[in-house]
Amino acid sequence: MPTVTKSAETKRAERMPAKPGNGNHGNKVDFFSVVDAQFQVAADHMRLDPDVQLMLRSPYRELVVQIPVRMDDGSLEMFHGYRVHHNAVRGPYKGGIRFHQGVDLNEVRSLAALMTWKTAIVDIPFGGAKGGVTCDPYTMSRRELQALTRGFTQKIDMALGVYRDIPAPDAGTNAQVMAWIMDEYGKKHGYTPAIVTGKPVSLGGSLGREEATGRGVMIVTREACRSYGLDLSGATVAVQGFGNVGSWTARLLHELGVKIVAVSDVNGAIHAPGGLDIPRLVEHVRSTRSVVGFEGATSLANDELLALDVDILIPAALGGAITHKNVADVKAKLIVEAANSPITPDADDALHARNVTVVPDILANGGGVTVSYFEWVQNLQQFHWSHAQVNEELERKMVTAWNAVHQRSEDERTSLRIAGYVVALDRVALATKQRF
Ligand code: NAD
Repeated sequence: MPTVTKSAETKRAERMPAKPGNGNHGNKVDFFSVVDAQFQVAADHMRLDPDVQLMLRSPYRELVVQIPVRMDDGSLEMFHGYRVHHNAVRGPYKGGIRFHQGVDLNEVRSLAALMTWKTAIVDIPFGGAKGGVTCDPYTMSRRELQALTRGFTQKIDMALGVYRDIPAPDAGTNAQVMAWIMDEYGKKHGYTPAIVTGKPVSLGGSLGREEATGRGVMIVTREACRSYGLDLSGATVAVQGFGNVGSWTARLLHELGVKIVAVSDVNGAIHAPGGLDIPRLVEHVRSTRSVVGFEGATSLANDELLALDVDILIPAALGGAITHKNVADVKAKLIVEAANSPITPDADDALHARNVTVVPDILANGGGVTVSYFEWVQNLQQFHWSHAQVNEELERKMVTAWNAVHQRSEDERTSLRIAGYVVALDRVALATKQRF
């Protein structure tokens, strides 16, 4: 077996560069402090029972694993993976798996907590979990990624189960990665499609799951405009991030006739004041793997997109996009958090003070886990729903969630974020008290 040599280390450094602009925006944000601060503000606002606060503030269990992978060049790489179970009083742990070089336990812990509030807001019988592996999937071969995914699945096997913990895709993972997880889990436990959601449709995945998070973002954007009297059809929109969530959000808003004037990915941003032809852009990204270089659009630096004079800004990349450093430049009137934790609490306060409406992540991106729930139900029943049925049920769930959070924010004169937490905490606290 080849040992790790200096040249292998050099290759490793080349494979996993600490790229600037990879979503961490300079200094790494302490993401758990972000969600903990949000939780605390809401808990204080609703005078949540201190015993319940104590139970909900920290995760139930955390698993940290090493995953040795033999790379294509013969060297051995040691990756680290995480699975955090935050809370399961309302149902099995549920949450995505992120592959990114910025992943660490703190970030996964924060994302697991967000899942608990998200599943409660859309009112599905799941708790909150999240997983991740510190790696750069875009520099790894298909064989290396498969080995990493299978190794990770083996290491977290004891945490998983159809009624215990059901993973799904997140940034850097997709339906193929879910298929490998299902296959690896099945080697030990037998055919178990319900162990993971976001699978390829041919392996028991749900129609409509791929676009579900973006569809949910589109629905809450539409509802927010309706509720606050903003004319969506005449609005201009900028979308940061053009992966699964950003590209589907842009496509579905474009289908509604909304003008998407700018989008970005990790390589840069593009701008067309008259509106981008999104279906053609999707084709461009399919062939070049980036939005950069799209004909008819001008190039912008990544951060310039966030400062554009648009009506609606949709951060759909990674956490920490809007901080105290750039919040003063943001000009949008409505921000819809498609990504998780894209706005730090200090920036959130600044936006609130300027009367900028922020639709929080725990509401805005809940469409993905909602259709994951539909997929799980279909797997358990071994019965497939039509695409139309999935979309109809998602529409109903998202509109109901929007109405609950919006009504709460009106009744209690709070931000949508605090209202979202209050709606979620009411439900999670009730289940906690009933169990203990
Ligand atoms: P993805 O990996 O498919 O896409 C991420 C996109 O962000 C890519 O286009 C990438 O190039 C871009 N990006 C990264 N850093 C950037 C930067 N600094 N500036 C501009 N663009 C940048 O990931 P995804 O699945 O679309 O997830 C995006 C966000 O949505 C994450 O915060 C994720 O947690 C959240 N989310 C995803 C889902 C889901 O179903 N996939 C569900 C809920 C929430």
